[in-house]
Amino acid sequence: MEIRKICAWCKKDLGSIPTVGYQPQNAISHGICPDCLRNFFDFGSQSMEEFLERFEHPVFLVDSNGRTIYANKKSLSLLDKSLQEVTGQLSGDVFECIHAIEGCGQTVHCKSCTIRNTVNKTFKTGESCLNVPAYPDLHHITKENKVRYLISTKKQGNAVILSINDISEEKK
Ligand SMILES: [Zn+2]
Repeated sequence: MEIRKICAWCKKDLGSIPTVGYQPQNAISHGICPDCLRNFFDFGSQSMEEFLERFEHPVFLVDSNGRTIYANKKSLSLLDKSLQEVTGQLSGDVFECIHAIEGCGQTVHCKSCTIRNTVNKTFKTGESCLNVPAYPDLHHITKENKVRYLISTKKQGNAVILSINDISEEKK
């Protein structure tokens, strides 16, 4: 079986990829084409992979709408997801925030979302933020325990590097 892979930004065809075993309902997989990638960030002679794999923490490269352009291996193992599952997805879907069911950014809770606000601030001002405590709503997974992320953001080209520096679970 094969599924079609398209660029999540310009919808350009990126060929097809083999699937093992099951056929997903929506048989389209997302990636990013080299042209769209260059619009976000000029990596010079290195590749995006080389650039992001050098970070010691899980990092995500996101666009100004909070869509994931790329996630390094540390973040994929943290989320237990593949790169194709997160590319082009909004942060709330990537982190499995409960409010993302209604659309990441579409609920009243989203106005106070630290991840969203921190990424937006860095996009607007160009300022980096360091170790900001964020509490994504993951109670559907962690029950009464509260999950705290320490996040950092840095503007890089037309993208923001979102880094998860620490994760802890505050027990009730
Ligand atoms: Zn593209």
